[in-house]
Amino acid sequence: MDKMLSGKICIVTGASRGIGAAIASRFRAEGARVYSFSRSAPSQPADGEDNILRDFWLSCDVSDEASVEAAVAAVLAREGKLDILVNNAGITRDGLLMRMKTEDWEAVIDTNLKSAFLLSRSVVRTMLKQRDGCILNVSSVVGVSGNGGQTNYSASKAGLIGLTKSLAREVASRNLRVNAIAPGFIETSMTDKIPEDFRQKLKESIPLGRVGSAEEAAAAALFLCSPLASYVTGVVLQVDGGMGM
Ligand code: NAP
Repeated sequence: MDKMLSGKICIVTGASRGIGAAIASRFRAEGARVYSFSRSAPSQPADGEDNILRDFWLSCDVSDEASVEAAVAAVLAREGKLDILVNNAGITRDGLLMRMKTEDWEAVIDTNLKSAFLLSRSVVRTMLKQRDGCILNVSSVVGVSGNGGQTNYSASKAGLIGLTKSLAREVASRNLRVNAIAPGFIETSMTDKIPEDFRQKLKESIPLGRVGSAEEAAAAALFLCSPLASYVTGVVLQVDGGMGM
């Protein structure tokens, strides 16, 4: 069977570890050439992927306009096209709203939401000219449900859903698709700081009774960015073991 992403040129932000690394690895296995944007170099390459990951890694702070534009321009100069953008990079700075510092609000909104605007704006002209392209935003189940202690993070992830649906409407007539995944509790460095007792409570709230893996989130990303989803745009696919239903 043909590989699903043969010949596709992709950018995945935040692919130095966690869900982004799993998406990049899965897309490569399906024949794509994947450029990874993050501040630090990929740290845990899958077996045999070390050189590939480093060759296609660009140092980029996704919250910074100049950094994003330079990194996207470097990819377009090298490849002359871009097929898939995955806006995955994200951070948390949790705390109760009444004690939240403005800088923690801004860091989360800029890294998680403004970044998707900056990246999408940088690539959309090229995709429109191609009359082909796909953008995937990594939102979160808390962008749908909200979560105490995460007003900044939930707002950024809810914002990504609005961006996804609005941009999907703007570009659909040119055959561009824009979708989102909303992961639940996925085992990565972002969630390994959660205290054990809270982790146990969270697990109990998940109908499938377990946390998810980065590979399971990557499988949903692959579906939405592949020809299997050629008639799917503007959706938010929850990958959460039933947590958000
Ligand atoms: P992670 O392991 O902490 O990885 C985050 C990635 O984002 C890293 O590669 C990091 O690279 C990159 N990043 C952070 N700030 C950046 C910046 N300013 N510029 C460029 N890259 C930046 O987190 P993860 O769990 O894989 O999360 C990936 C995405 O899934 C995030 O958007 C997160 O909100 C979302 N998500 C995760 C879960 C979960 O349970 N894990 C659930 C729902 C949604 P550098 O630090 O090297 O820059």
